[in-house]
Amino acid sequence: MADEILRCLTGKKNLLIEAGTGVGKSFAYLIPAILSHEKTIVSTASLALQDQLVSKDLTFLQRELSQKFSFGILKGKNNYLCLKREREFAEIGEFFIKFRKWVSKTETGEKDELPFIPEFWSKVCGDSQDCNGRTCPFYNNCFYYRHYRHLFKKDILVVNHHLLIYDLLSDFSILPFHKQLIIDEASEIDNIISHVLGSTLTYPRVAWLLYRLKGLKIIVDPFFPKAESFFKGMDMPSQVIFPIPASIIENLKDLKNTLALNRIVTTLEKNKRSLSDDELRDRIETTIGYVKSIAADIDDFIDQNDTDRVYYIAGNNGALELKSSLVESQKPFKELISHYDSVIMTSATLASEGNFVFLKKRLGIKDKDFQERIIGSPFDFRKQALLYIDKNLPGPDKRNNGIFQQESLKVIEELIDASSGRALVLFTSYTHLNFVSKNIKIHYPFKSQGDMPPPRLINWFKDTSHSVLLATATFWQGIDIKGEKLSLVVIAKLPFTSPGDPVYQERCRRLRDRWFGDLALPSAILVLRQGFGRLIRGHNDYGVVAILDTRLVTRSYGKTIVSSLPEMNIVHSIDDVKGFFSGLIQVS
Ligand code: SF4
Repeated sequence: MADEILRCLTGKKNLLIEAGTGVGKSFAYLIPAILSHEKTIVSTASLALQDQLVSKDLTFLQRELSQKFSFGILKGKNNYLCLKREREFAEIGEFFIKFRKWVSKTETGEKDELPFIPEFWSKVCGDSQDCNGRTCPFYNNCFYYRHYRHLFKKDILVVNHHLLIYDLLSDFSILPFHKQLIIDEASEIDNIISHVLGSTLTYPRVAWLLYRLKGLKIIVDPFFPKAESFFKGMDMPSQVIFPIPASIIENLKDLKNTLALNRIVTTLEKNKRSLSDDELRDRIETTIGYVKSIAADIDDFIDQNDTDRVYYIAGNNGALELKSSLVESQKPFKELISHYDSVIMTSATLASEGNFVFLKKRLGIKDKDFQERIIGSPFDFRKQALLYIDKNLPGPDKRNNGIFQQESLKVIEELIDASSGRALVLFTSYTHLNFVSKNIKIHYPFKSQGDMPPPRLINWFKDTSHSVLLATATFWQGIDIKGEKLSLVVIAKLPFTSPGDPVYQERCRRLRDRWFGDLALPSAILVLRQGFGRLIRGHNDYGVVAILDTRLVTRSYGKTIVSSLPEMNIVHSIDDVKGFFSGLIQVS
């Protein structure tokens, strides 16, 4: 893998490369990046991998390699304390003594340094919309820019996908220029482009603007109840609604008329002209930017003219949120890769049905633009793993949902009994997760997603003997546990994207009768492979993956899905699973 990547980097070529679990993917791209002598950006989807690259892998390579190189990490501005916003917030008087103490002592201003995350963090951290960079009166001491200035000379710069796409959105003005780009966890990039290039209109965003205007002596008190009633005055939808109901658009027009943001811009422009105080001038300038951006978003949600986007609403903590997402990411992706001499895209699961056709279609990649390579996992799945596919449960479709939940619970309990705990049970919905979590009867300690933050939940699982973790979404790929602590992965249902997801629904609509083969099936295979990959993490790991979805045997596409998984023995009886764990059944 390293040879292939070095060849592509030095030859200024692009490469799609899947590297199965256990290949040593991060060293296989970091070492060629270092040997290439060119500045390289490495982007990951998760903060966990970003931290692992910096605190473990690159630190190790810097110590062990004879070639000298430097590296750094850049997180989004919202990970750093903003001196301007912190001061402004202090003026309002809502402050914690403990937090103030940290502010007066911190050398880095980084959120990670805090022993606790205050709920007002979003009001005192950096925010691109509220930052004028060089012209900010606090620029010279700014934590974010002080850190940023050191990064220009770094050979390897580690960032996350959100920052990478914000950089694209800002005409590449955020990240210092590097010639090469390595995208790890590359299957995420499509959805992150769709999200970052969308927009969100929320109560906290509007309320923050009103507080800011109040601080600038603009009379806005009567606007608070109006905004509150728009965002909080209705029964919250329990799921995403798409398209946005006409009644909400009418209410939004009323809110627009009440706020009269254009008039506020005119007043602020006038006030700015007579000012000599730099700090106040900066505050007014950034506020004008803020007002304009909210006004533009309100207009966009009223008109919904952008055919590249899908518009929808959702409830969050008792408040309405208006959202838009980009449907297709081909154009922005093309622009992103054209900025670099060479782009390497990698992941443990990048291919679907044994090729990159799905990913290439989603991102608009032409055959000639990228070279391709799949490197299989070095693990021996025939010896180390067993695949249990249930044949007797009712199919998990809507009509059977209640029965499926009841019946699958019994199978989950039996499987956990067979593995003596040490299990991760993955669900595709919170409803199913909550049902199992409420009714499960096992002799082993268990916790569910939501009982504590994910990193603590993972630590609890690692530190507790024979533990069981019931989880959904993030855990399909966010958990890496070696050894016998994790010996059973149960996949309750095939991870088809929920039809309630508006972006997915719109993508399906555009694909017409090709929606299943071109989108639903390949994306479910990718997610399934990610969930599957939680089990075998080392040469000495062994265990069972149990899939309770009988569509694997009753539907024609079942064979395609099974053939996308590593080759291993398949059983349909729980007795065989018991035999495997008691060592009675030897797999070959
Ligand atoms: S430059 Fe000013 S506004 Fe921007 S993050 Fe730094 S302190 Fe905050």
